Amino acid sequence: MKRLSKKTLLLAGAGHAHIGLLRRLSADRSKNNASNALIDTDIHLISEQPHTLYSGMLPGWMAGHYQLDDISIDTKSLCLRAGVRFIQQSITKITAASNTVDTSGNERFDYDVLSLNTGADTDLRGLSQADDYKGNDNRDDMSNDLRNEVIAIRPLSTFTIQWQQILDDARQSDQYRLAIVGAGAAATELVMAAQVALQQINGNHQVTLICGENLLSGFVPSFRQRVIKQLHRHGITMIEARATAYRDGQLSTSNDSFPVDAVIAATGVRGAAWTASTDLETVDNGFVAVNSQQQSVSHPNVFAVGDVATRVDQYVAHSGVHAVHGGAIEAGNLLAYLQGEALTEYQPRTRTLYLLSCGDKYAIGSWGRVSLQGRWVWYLKRQIDKRFVTSCAA
Ligand SMILES: Cc1cc2nc3c(=O)[nH]c(=O)nc-3n(C[C@H](O)[C@H](O)[C@H](O)COP(=O)(O)OP(=O)(O)OC[C@H]3O[C@@H](n4cnc5c(N)ncnc54)[C@H](O)[C@@H]3O)c2cc1C
Repeated sequence: MKRLSKKTLLLAGAGHAHIGLLRRLSADRSKNNASNALIDTDIHLISEQPHTLYSGMLPGWMAGHYQLDDISIDTKSLCLRAGVRFIQQSITKITAASNTVDTSGNERFDYDVLSLNTGADTDLRGLSQADDYKGNDNRDDMSNDLRNEVIAIRPLSTFTIQWQQILDDARQSDQYRLAIVGAGAAATELVMAAQVALQQINGNHQVTLICGENLLSGFVPSFRQRVIKQLHRHGITMIEARATAYRDGQLSTSNDSFPVDAVIAATGVRGAAWTASTDLETVDNGFVAVNSQQQSVSHPNVFAVGDVATRVDQYVAHSGVHAVHGGAIEAGNLLAYLQGEALTEYQPRTRTLYLLSCGDKYAIGSWGRVSLQGRWVWYLKRQIDKRFVTSCAA
């Protein structure tokens, strides 16, 4: 195997953490302020798409408040400005024993230090869709018949194509019925955005939320109540049962079965598909096990952050907030590791700001035990989100 004269830092995936690192490298480069750690280091980023869609703005795009460009980060250009080589491929295997990453293009890349930020897959395990259900492996198997496949919210790039097909189908229908399965904040945002979009096409169209019995279980009761009121305001039907199967346009739940034209799953995350082909230690069926410094517990030259990783020392939710904040610490640790310096721990804040959009220009916010709502909360969210995406283009 080729030995590298310079060190190689390989970044896999263009999630929140790597976007943050690229912004930092790009800013340093424009000020001629490169870190000493990087003088003898080549940096490569492997990601499946040249653009990264910003999930926080996806419901706003569905509801028609944004164009796709408004919610896209041009990862490839950001790499160019940061002095990072961009490789458009998917990683398929990591062999940490030999410091190599295999990709969908049948290439093998060596690394000295590897950073993983590939996110996770939608967890469809509770929702079988057909006799030949293939779980994670079905991501390239997009059929045109939405009456026989559950649409996973991830990968977002595939979802955006399928959402446009839903809108096309709804335009041809007198009474379109969409079901969204999930009980988290993302599911409630999606259902309200979808209802606003479908009602604009035809007032007979209807979106149903299948949420089981634990809607927004991680949030304070006042926040949960505010969200339920907004779901009612939009006339969204909530079914407190578990969706179990979808085939031939028929959605089965633990209580019932009824016809729908399409089903979207926002059912939480499971480990990324590639984690089935790695010797890195994983936990909970496919999340890379990391310590408080976001460092693999089995291979110290591998770091992982965001939804792809699970902390072994304490519970940290899989969320964009922790991908961003943990990512900033992880980025510093990559540079420190390259220089042989001490690593820093990521201490998640006990309170984080969560802003949940309600389809129209209205939003609910939560900060610890405090929750509030209004049009101004939506404008605040829009300002924060737009500032983030715009700053990636500067
Ligand atoms: C609709 C919606 C709204 C949400 N809103 C919020 C919110 O307001 N606040 C919040 O905290 N969280 C929110 N979340 C959750 C949040 O999106 C995720 O927790 C967050 O995106 C995880 O970030 P990440 O950096 O780990 O990876 P991701 O953002 O998932 O990015 C992963 C990247 O890796 C690339 N990739 C994936 N697989 C491979 C591969 N095999 N090879 C190469 N590249 C790969 C992808 O293309 C992508 O660029 C929302 C989720 C959804 C679905």
